[in-house]
Amino acid sequence: MLAAMPFAIKWLVTLLAFAALAAVPSSRADTGAGAVERVGSTRWSSDTLYRGAPAPRAPTHGLALTFAFFTDGGWTREQLHEAAASAAGVLAQCGVVVSAVEVAELRAPRRLQYFATPRARELVKAAPLPRPAVYFVADTLQQPAFEAEAIGRANSGTRPELADTVWITRGARHLPLVLAHELAHVLMDSGEHVAEPGNLMRQDTAPENTRLDPAQCARMRTVGEAHGLLTPLAGAKAGGTADERR
Ligand SMILES: [Zn+2]
Repeated sequence: MLAAMPFAIKWLVTLLAFAALAAVPSSRADTGAGAVERVGSTRWSSDTLYRGAPAPRAPTHGLALTFAFFTDGGWTREQLHEAAASAAGVLAQCGVVVSAVEVAELRAPRRLQYFATPRARELVKAAPLPRPAVYFVADTLQQPAFEAEAIGRANSGTRPELADTVWITRGARHLPLVLAHELAHVLMDSGEHVAEPGNLMRQDTAPENTRLDPAQCARMRTVGEAHGLLTPLAGAKAGGTADERR
């Protein structure tokens, strides 16, 4: 059953690709295929994100994020901005500064506003966005149903199109911490959870779980940089001195 899964998915994607190639105006209206449209773009600079939140004192890496939400999906720009600002404050402890958030407003068929691997593949194909990308969706159809899910490189084997994406449902509690937690999974390319009290990577997010230990931060910087998700900042001290790089 499990072994047959990737083939089933591949077959579905082939069908969808074929449908897109063969699309004629009338079938577009019938099937909703190709109906994903980017209808708005906003860019939040680090200035607006760190207003009132602690920016990293000696940042070593920059993180440029992409957010996607749906015109009629129930998420607001204000919610997303607040979450981004708070999550940026949490990631600051690792020397990571959120340099900008590119916000894409999408118009898409209702069925693509629910997270399930085949639908997510269809969505990212129809509206490709720079990674790491965070999709704010209505709900999940996956089993088990998580409030939020992160797909790194390590767990994207049969679905490489979804690597370095985060999917957050409207049911997510403690949104800023969920966002920081899922981004940490992607940047570290690790699904690992810890039991340590107060740690951001505890299985269940809670307002008091905000800390990342030095090893987690080191992994985030090293792996995030290796995967091209974090940009080393000029003049930063950590991760090798200028002398070592010469
Ligand atoms: Zn987790």
